[in-house]
Amino acid sequence: MSIKFYNTLTRKKEEFKPIDEREIRMYSCGPTVYYYAHIGNLRAYLFMDNLRRVLKYNGYNLKHVMNITDVGHLVSDADEGEDKMLKAAKRENKNPFEIAEFYMKAFLKDIDKLNIDRPEIIARATEHIDIMEEYVKKIIENGYTYETEDTVYFDTSKLDKYGVLSNRNVEDQKAGARVEFDSNKKNISDFALWIKAPENHIMKWDSFFGKSYPGWHLECSAMGYKYLGDHFDIHTGGIDHIPIHHENEIAQSKGFCGKIPANFWMHVEFLQINGGKMSKSLNNLYTLEDLKEKGYEPLVYRMFNFTSNYRNQINFTFEAMDSAKTSLNRLREGYLKHKEGTEEISKEEIEEYEKRFLEAINDDLNMPVAMSVIWDIIKNSKKSKTLANLILKFDEVLGLDLKNYQKPEDDIPEEVKKLVEERNEARKNKNWSESDRIRDILINKGYNVKDSKEGTIIEK
Ligand code: AMP
Ligand code: ZN
Repeated sequence: MSIKFYNTLTRKKEEFKPIDEREIRMYSCGPTVYYYAHIGNLRAYLFMDNLRRVLKYNGYNLKHVMNITDVGHLVSDADEGEDKMLKAAKRENKNPFEIAEFYMKAFLKDIDKLNIDRPEIIARATEHIDIMEEYVKKIIENGYTYETEDTVYFDTSKLDKYGVLSNRNVEDQKAGARVEFDSNKKNISDFALWIKAPENHIMKWDSFFGKSYPGWHLECSAMGYKYLGDHFDIHTGGIDHIPIHHENEIAQSKGFCGKIPANFWMHVEFLQINGGKMSKSLNNLYTLEDLKEKGYEPLVYRMFNFTSNYRNQINFTFEAMDSAKTSLNRLREGYLKHKEGTEEISKEEIEEYEKRFLEAINDDLNMPVAMSVIWDIIKNSKKSKTLANLILKFDEVLGLDLKNYQKPEDDIPEEVKKLVEERNEARKNKNWSESDRIRDILINKGYNVKDSKEGTIIEK
């Protein structure tokens, strides 16, 4: 069955065809490791994982690279402000290498907790300085740069077009235009490739430019080239990467070898919180650890992300997390019920589920529709091991780790179970005052009480 992905480069959904059927080559922009990842960042890696899993489900092998930025990323993507790593080092009174080591480990732990499969290659920028140097020398040799005293800049006016992803016009960005910009640059869209290190700068390397360090955008071009070649299948990132970072990657690659490095450019939309931006100052920036403290295991956050397509913004609320938690429990319970079942299911019925599921995931990762197929299976009144196995198969895409799920020990006392049954009976008979009376008893005993189609759900 054909796979369709939305391609930012062509601004439409297109059929995906690998360059080499034997192996899909893919690059994902990874984190800058200067602090803990927040749940917005983690949405980006959940998307990356979802894409990996869909490609694997379709039978493809992958060679997937993700970078770890541990040098050179300024506070603004447009080469302005302080270096994020150095800023963190000052904040924590450590050196930037220690900062990188600490937060890289924290990041890898987070993605493990979310059951995100690690890309085949995780490449740290600081371990590839030599590759970046070779790459930049070629761009210089090809005539796409100019130098000031302390910076080698990419000259975007040398390209046939700069801004192919966001469809921008370089003419609008020429020096002297309305916008103010770094006066050393010839064109507003020019960017730093290599920078001379000031005296007290810790992260610096001996290179053709003296003691210096690379600009942020270079690492993705150079490491992508090293591991995947000058033309590969898919490049992913967040939508914030479109206007600067990915335009600059494309510019670098054109300057290096004249090619746009990837066929498909896929971008994940932002997570919003209560309809707005996440930020430290609004005190609404959460990590996985914060969610855990509030009683949500990481896989609940994974489940929450399936309520929206990756190309839509998704709004984080604790109410939505509560329903994701209920859904995950329902899914687990439903799976276990089928696992214990003995009824027969026809081959046609299974094939129909498989077809619908594949159609959904191959339609630009339409997870809300894929989930609706799963719910239909859960609701199937015939309880069957075949259906449990089908759910496990689909879980290769969902990544909810159902195969390792074990029912927690049942520690609900008999008298409480009896109250739940009595309440269900009262609700069936529309005896609302009795139902409310029992609910209050359960609450007094320390239980959260919720109503669902299946009846009362309690939680300690
Ligand atoms: P950074 O570590 O700051 O380079 O960001 C890592 C990734 O997180 C990038 O791919 C961003 O696009 C992504 N990102 C940052 N904020 C959000 C958000 N609120 N929702 C989704 N992705 C985000
Ligand atoms: Zn990148």
